[in-house]
Amino acid sequence: MGLQDELTVMQPVVMKIFSKSVRENRLSHGYLFEGSSGTGKKRTALWLAQSLFCLESTETELACGKCANCTRIASHNHPDVHLLEPDGASIKIDQVRALKQELSKRGMESDQKVVIIYDADKMTVQSANSLLKFIEEPEGGLLLLFLTTNPGQILPTIQSRLQPVTFKSLTFDSLLASLTAAGISEQKARIYASITGSVEEVKAFEESEWFSEARNVVIKLYEGIHHQGTSPLIIIQESWMPLFKEKDKMALGLELLLLLYRDRLHLTLDENYEPICTAQKEMLGQDALRKSLSETTGEIEKILAAKSKLDSNMNTQLLMEQLVLEIQGR
Ligand SMILES: [Zn+2]
Repeated sequence: MGLQDELTVMQPVVMKIFSKSVRENRLSHGYLFEGSSGTGKKRTALWLAQSLFCLESTETELACGKCANCTRIASHNHPDVHLLEPDGASIKIDQVRALKQELSKRGMESDQKVVIIYDADKMTVQSANSLLKFIEEPEGGLLLLFLTTNPGQILPTIQSRLQPVTFKSLTFDSLLASLTAAGISEQKARIYASITGSVEEVKAFEESEWFSEARNVVIKLYEGIHHQGTSPLIIIQESWMPLFKEKDKMALGLELLLLLYRDRLHLTLDENYEPICTAQKEMLGQDALRKSLSETTGEIEKILAAKSKLDSNMNTQLLMEQLVLEIQGR
């Protein structure tokens, strides 16, 4: 099995997104690969780089894995594919400066350049800030791939400028299995397993009324934004704010909202996808037909940007109202 096939078995959704984007020449400038170790993040990053430089790429096999460029990338010897990883405990400012100097030169063999940052959460604040400029004003042919097992440790300013790509881990399935074994319905267990890796947290959710109320309000808000129903601004004022007053609750609320958009994203790419939010399958399936891939990823970005603003002192009701208006394109 070639690398592409192996990765497709391991991370079918991720590979589908990237294969499509590469074929249509629509890659974003920056991605955040998040997932536990052993989920294929590094290999996917290298494969993606190969797909951009491969000399023998075909419609079905985007990276042959055998040509001069593919082999140089696999052995970390390609002049336009840069790898950054912690030097000791952190990714230091000097490393980032050296990288930026490399990048300021013209591409060795083409205008395309790829930067892969392993353990991106280990960047010092200084290093991260120094990289921000590149993310803010990306050059045409620059692709930045941030890899992390700890997305929560990535500065929000960086995070909000990257497209998130989740590498599903086996933990999801094992958590799912233990939750269903504990008597929780599969439908609920899939939602829990998507927003937390902690059985303890799930137990706390199960014991309070809060979680199911939260889910209802989140779905109501989604319907209010995209379908007929109560105005989303009224939902925010009357239902959302009382329930998601504290910032950690609000973060969870946005995480629950994201689940619906991620399901829609997956349904856009594969109509046979089994969504996490099973009960909303029909609605999300119809929305996936009406909305383009870029509309959906754009809306996901807006929610992530709102989530990253939670750390600031911004009024949370205002934050929600702005988010809703932005999604509705007003
Ligand atoms: Zn090749």
